[in-house]
Amino acid sequence: MSTFKAPKGTYDLTPPDSAKYLAVREALSAPLKNSGYGYIETPGFEDVALFSRGVGESTDIVSKEMYTLTTKGGSELALRPEGTASVLRAALEANLHKLGNLPVKLWYSGSYYRYERPQKGRYRHFSQVGAEAIGAEDPALDAELIILADQAYRTLGLQNFRILLNSLGDKECRPVYRDALQEFLRELDLDDDTRRRIDLNPLRVLDDKRPEVQKQLVGAPVLRDYLCDACKAYHEEVRDLLTAAGVVYEDDEKLVRGLDYYTRTTFEFVHDGLGSQSAVGGGGRYDGLSEMIGGPALPSVGWALGVDRTVLALEAEGIELELPSATSVFAVPLGEEARRVLFAKVTELRRVGVAADFAFGGRGLKGAMKSANRSGARFTVVAGERDLAEGVVQLKDMESGEQQAVALDALVAEVQQKLA
Ligand code: ATP
Ligand code: MG
Repeated sequence: MSTFKAPKGTYDLTPPDSAKYLAVREALSAPLKNSGYGYIETPGFEDVALFSRGVGESTDIVSKEMYTLTTKGGSELALRPEGTASVLRAALEANLHKLGNLPVKLWYSGSYYRYERPQKGRYRHFSQVGAEAIGAEDPALDAELIILADQAYRTLGLQNFRILLNSLGDKECRPVYRDALQEFLRELDLDDDTRRRIDLNPLRVLDDKRPEVQKQLVGAPVLRDYLCDACKAYHEEVRDLLTAAGVVYEDDEKLVRGLDYYTRTTFEFVHDGLGSQSAVGGGGRYDGLSEMIGGPALPSVGWALGVDRTVLALEAEGIELELPSATSVFAVPLGEEARRVLFAKVTELRRVGVAADFAFGGRGLKGAMKSANRSGARFTVVAGERDLAEGVVQLKDMESGEQQAVALDALVAEVQQKLA
């Protein structure tokens, strides 16, 4: 071990476990690639004001969890705590909303940073796969995203997750509700921090997980009773489309989520095997965000799924992903001449697309065969001087244990045929 360790609240991904993370990222993004979403990548840091304006000053993310820094040139930057504001910023900057038809559908995958108290499922560096559909107000788009996330989790084999669904209203009806809620909350017995929150972001008080707060919230006004007709109809349509698609969800009128920019549809995917860090993903509609960061009106909807927590959810359900072995052929040379000949064969195999590896480091047969076993390769190719003198190599099927001599010149074709 070196004197250095991964910083607090972070962890490294190393083989063989790292393969599982790659597979999860791939599975979470596969339905998007299949549904018209284009890949977008943005920097790991942005102007801090993008988040304070976009995500909101009153959110925990901005007020407590952001890693901010001042550069030598005096710029105020923040490591990205989430993806939506950056993706929208990039889409506007590239004029994607003017170049083609709306909505602009984008997906991303990357690292996010939040200064949180580290615990299981809550890290300071974590990984998300996200999707944003920018510039269209259409309940089918909200439904599409929820259906695709559901599909992503199901292809991984997950079953014990639930979809919580709510509508947060729009700029017509939410302010009326906000006033009513504030009036209710001001009568309660709450600590100073929470009292401040009543003024800044009263909906977030509903999200308070503490039992002494939750107890007092019984009887609080619920948004559903305040939704305007347009929001009600929109929400009904989203619910109907989900039902028609066979996606089961639960109405959760307390679901508000931690970001200021959400309007109308909000949803969260929670997994029951994860304890208190139960959200594996979440998202919603954010019709006002573009204008908040200086863009035109672009009603949009999106989600972000947590890769780390999805892996924990798989473990909680005891699901082992079937990961194809990374290597198909492992070459074991015996002697100097064989080393050169087999190294050339490995190169040739790789060039035709066969995953191949080689016993490096000049170890003996026993050590090399151990590496071959550990690689998970389906075939081992062994050759010594006597084999080469006869123009053959020994091809061993690691599954059946059968071994046969194959002409050196025919090896690549033979392997390709057996693997097909
Ligand atoms: P939570 O309520 O657990 O704090 P959140 O509402 O802050 O979650 P989002 O901003 O919606 O989370 O991010 C989407 C997903 O990213 C979450 O559902 C979760 O799976 C994951 N996520 C968020 N914060 C962290 C973190 N600190 N460590 C690991 N995963 C995280
Ligand atoms: Mg959080």
